[in-house]
Amino acid sequence: MNSHHALNHKDILNNLNTGIIIHGKESEIIYANNTALKLMTMSWSTMTGQTVASYDWYFVDKYKKRLASKYYPVAAVMSSGKPVENIELGVVREGKVASWILCSASPEFDEQGLLSQIVVTLVDITHKHQYVPFKKIVDLASDIIVVTEAENTKDIGYKIIYVNEAFTKLTGYSSDEAIGKTPKMLQGELTSVTTRKRIKTALDQHQPVRERIYNYSKTGTGYWLDMNIVPLHNPSGELLYFAAIERDITNQQEKENNLSEQASIDELTGLFNRRAFTEAADMAISAAVSQKSTLTVAMIDADHFKSINDNYGHDVGDQALCQLSEIMCSCFRKSDLLGRFGGEEFAVIITGGDEKEILNKMELFRTKVSQTPINITSSHHINLTVSIGLAFLDTSNNSFTGLLKLADTALYQAKNSGRNRVSVYKR
Ligand code: GH3
Ligand code: MG
Ligand code: MG
Repeated sequence: MNSHHALNHKDILNNLNTGIIIHGKESEIIYANNTALKLMTMSWSTMTGQTVASYDWYFVDKYKKRLASKYYPVAAVMSSGKPVENIELGVVREGKVASWILCSASPEFDEQGLLSQIVVTLVDITHKHQYVPFKKIVDLASDIIVVTEAENTKDIGYKIIYVNEAFTKLTGYSSDEAIGKTPKMLQGELTSVTTRKRIKTALDQHQPVRERIYNYSKTGTGYWLDMNIVPLHNPSGELLYFAAIERDITNQQEKENNLSEQASIDELTGLFNRRAFTEAADMAISAAVSQKSTLTVAMIDADHFKSINDNYGHDVGDQALCQLSEIMCSCFRKSDLLGRFGGEEFAVIITGGDEKEILNKMELFRTKVSQTPINITSSHHINLTVSIGLAFLDTSNNSFTGLLKLADTALYQAKNSGRNRVSVYKR
């Protein structure tokens, strides 16, 4: 027959998921419930009456560092007379962590105020405990990591509180030199103001942001960074820091710059090719329209160029084209737009100047071309001439394609009326 006793305290304690150990005033174990025995990898017979000195296991801290026995919770309570709470500990037996526990210990005193016993509670956190050395990973990552405060006090910037080794390696600033300063220390002349504005706007709104930015090392060397900034919050959602994870992409950026340069430059003459010239022309025309400035489109075509090729060969033809582009560079200003439009056709866009000035300039250029001989041999020279068609920007002709058509019409007139001349499109 079962007798239905009310559960006694011992039964309750033994069925708790929390481990409980009671130590006497000499720290000897006088009671442990089942959960505690399991967590401490002990049996009742091996545990009872034992003190620290006779344990065949030891504690490690959450970084798996062996704990000196004077820091064990019971020892700490005995020496301080105060409780300790929620200490994360590993129980190591035979060289392995057998369990991870969250340990609290509190003293109890008799009527005289003397320590009578210590009650220890153990919560099993084995399944939750995963120690990953994040700090070390961040310190040693090959990407650059910069952590700043989240507050931009008085708009002086976000104060740096951490940089990793990759940061020091790239910038030359040690962490001592960087901490307390702001990332502005890395910016300079070529750091884009608009990029900085976009970053500031995002951070002011606590948003993540990714940008390519040009920064400078301690010795003044510039480099391109792919920069990813993320806000870091605490578990209750409060913004604490910004972390910037950055990668040096100088090589990649330079490759891209070279590629886009290659894509816009005519190889033979070094002038803009047709595509790049058209792009730049559109911008120059919009600028002239909005600034109410004059603008001229000139189409330049070499005369009887086919016969140069036919008589002297393609290489001499190429040499003549190079010489022609050099004369263009010497006759026009740096701010004028020069392009090779294809074949033996060139184009120039000049912003500013009145029609008479432009005509004079074009005449000078045309004359210089006709007076600059092309050397075939040391004793044999030939002369090249060009025909030029001009169109001026006005309210009814304010697109590049439109102006180009007019300049082409004028060029056709120049060819038809004898070549080696400048013709202006007549409205
Ligand atoms: P026109 O006075 O009417 O302009 O006569 P042209 O011979 O210059 O005109 P056409 O358009 O008939 O011939 C242009 C020639 O330019 C054809 C081609 O042989 C030559 N040409 C085009 N591109 C190049 C180049 O890159 N190098 C060389 N050497 N010749 C080129
Ligand atoms: Mg032609
Ligand atoms: Mg020609």
